[in-house]
Amino acid sequence: MQSALSLLFPPQCISCGEPTDADFGLCGPCWRTTPFITGLVCDRCGAPLPGEDEGRAEYCDDCLTLARPWQRGRAAMLYTDNGRKLVLALKHGDRLDLARPASDWLLRAARPIVTPGMLVVPVPLHWTRLLRRRFNQSAELSKALARKAGLDHCPDLLQRARRTASQDGRDRDGRFRNVAGAIRLHPRRGNMARDRDILLVDDVMTSGATLAAAADACLGAGAASVSVLVLARVAKDA
Ligand SMILES: [Zn+2]
Ligand SMILES: [Zn+2]
Repeated sequence: MQSALSLLFPPQCISCGEPTDADFGLCGPCWRTTPFITGLVCDRCGAPLPGEDEGRAEYCDDCLTLARPWQRGRAAMLYTDNGRKLVLALKHGDRLDLARPASDWLLRAARPIVTPGMLVVPVPLHWTRLLRRRFNQSAELSKALARKAGLDHCPDLLQRARRTASQDGRDRDGRFRNVAGAIRLHPRRGNMARDRDILLVDDVMTSGATLAAAADACLGAGAASVSVLVLARVAKDA
């Protein structure tokens, strides 16, 4: 349907800006170069696995060897090609409009692990970073997802207890050390996590160290369970 608005502002691909036939969508070429994750995945982190989905939980090597305080996890896409470009645009490019289409992709990936009554919570940024960047991209994703899924959202359940240096350039052990204990419950959110199933949302999962610190904080606050959902998973083979 052509409205006056769509004549003034014809729909554009959210990635490359080329005209496309639907609002908030990707054009054909961008869709094909966006590495959406399908098929068999690790039930704990959402990384793609070889083989067929036979309906039982399978785990990747990382999730079999690393401490994963959360139960289940999914990722919408791999952090490569157009997946990486979209994540970076959301994070650094003032492209908050990406949160809405991204919430569709997140919800599709999360369907197997979403349960009624889940509380959706973003991984927090430190306030100094929030000031500089003006928004927390993970909170934009979690807000859009919670709205779409009809779930409760608590954008400030967690906060950074201290400012951590960037995770970039650290090896896996260094990443876990860098963020251990760095995330805590917001002092004014005392009982909100108690007995709730929490769905933690972040933009990217690399080692999982930040999600582990956030999950520990939720469990320490009495959460019944924690699951994780990310827009893009950095996979070893990617
Ligand atoms: Zn495009
Ligand atoms: Zn895994």
